[in-house]
Amino acid sequence: MSHIIGAIEAGGTKFVCGIGTADGQLLDRVSFPTGQPEETLTRAADYFAAKQVAAIGIGSFGPIDLRPGSPTYGFVTTTPKPGWKDCDFLGTLRRRFDVPYGWDTDVNAAAYGEAVWGAARGLDSCLYYTIGTGVGVGVYAEGQLLHGLLHPEGGHTLPRRHPDDGFAGVCPYHGDCLEGMASGPALQARWGVPGHELPADHPAWEIEAHYIAQSVSSAILMLSPRKVILGGGVMQQEHLLPLIRRDVAQNLNGYVAAEALAEGEGLDSYIVAPGLGTESGLRGSLALGIRALREHKGAGAAVHASPAAASAMETHAK
Ligand code: ADP
Ligand code: ZN
Repeated sequence: MSHIIGAIEAGGTKFVCGIGTADGQLLDRVSFPTGQPEETLTRAADYFAAKQVAAIGIGSFGPIDLRPGSPTYGFVTTTPKPGWKDCDFLGTLRRRFDVPYGWDTDVNAAAYGEAVWGAARGLDSCLYYTIGTGVGVGVYAEGQLLHGLLHPEGGHTLPRRHPDDGFAGVCPYHGDCLEGMASGPALQARWGVPGHELPADHPAWEIEAHYIAQSVSSAILMLSPRKVILGGGVMQQEHLLPLIRRDVAQNLNGYVAAEALAEGEGLDSYIVAPGLGTESGLRGSLALGIRALREHKGAGAAVHASPAAASAMETHAK
C-alpha cells in the first residue's frame, strides 16, 4: 500500500509544507511566511487536513528540543523570534493528526535528505551548511543525525577575522561569529546592498569565502565528514564555491590528503552544492516522515534500528 507522507520545512522566514510518496517524490507543496506560531501552525495543519497523511516529517528552525522524554520535546525553545520562544510546535500538530512524526532541525533534515537522495547518497556521513538569513550546519555522522547536548549550532562558531575586514558582525549574541560575518544579512549590512547585487569580482566574495572556508576546514578536521554540502541563498552565487574550495585547500595545507577526500576526485566532488537543489530541506523533512512511519511500523522489530539502517534501506529501495 502506498502512503502519502507530509513534510514541513519550517524556516524563520517562511514555512514550506508538502506531501510526497515513500520513494521521495514530492506531489505538492505550498509556502507561506512564518507569522505568529498559532496562525502559522494552524495554516500548516490545515494544509494537511484533507490529505490523509500517514506520517509527517518536520525540519524546524531552532533552537528546538530533540531530547526524547523531555517535557518540552518538540518545542522551539530559546529562539529570539517573536512569539516562538517555548512554543509547542510538535504538540500543536499532534493534536490535529495522530500520526508518527519525524522531528529535527531544518539543517539536520536537509543533511538527511542529501544523504538519502542527494549529493551524499550512499554515504554514512555528511555536513549540510545553509548560508542564508542565518548560517546553520546539519551533521549526519555514522548514519545518525547528530543531536548531542542540544544540537549542533555551527553557525555561531567563532572565526578568525579576515585581515581586511573591520566589520563588527550582525549576530545579536556574538557579533562576529560565522553567522554574524557571513550570513545574507551580514553581507547586506557590511556592503549596503544585498548579496545578489554584488558583482562576482567584488572583494566581498573573497571575505565571504574566507569565513565559510574556515568553518568548513574546522568541521572537516573535527568531524571527518565524507561530503560537505553548501546550500542556502548566498550559495546561489556560483563563483563562491570555487573560492571556498581554494581556501579550504590552503587551510588544510595537505594535512588531510586531498586523495582521501571524495576518494581521489579531490575537493571539487567533496565540497559541493546540494544534490537536491533548493529542495534539500523539504525532501529531507519528507525523509524524516518516511523514517518515522517505518520505525512506527517496525516498532519492536529489527527495523526499529538506527537511522543508518533506515537510510541504507531507503537508498536501496529507490
Ligand atoms: P532562509 O535562510 O531565510 O531560509 P535563503 O536561504 O534564501 O532563505 O537565504 C536568504 C538570504 O540569502 C538573504 O539574506 C538573501 O539576501 C540572501 N540571498 C538570496 N539569494 C541570493 C543570491 N542569489 N545571492 C546572494 N545572496 C542571496
Ligand atoms: Zn552568533
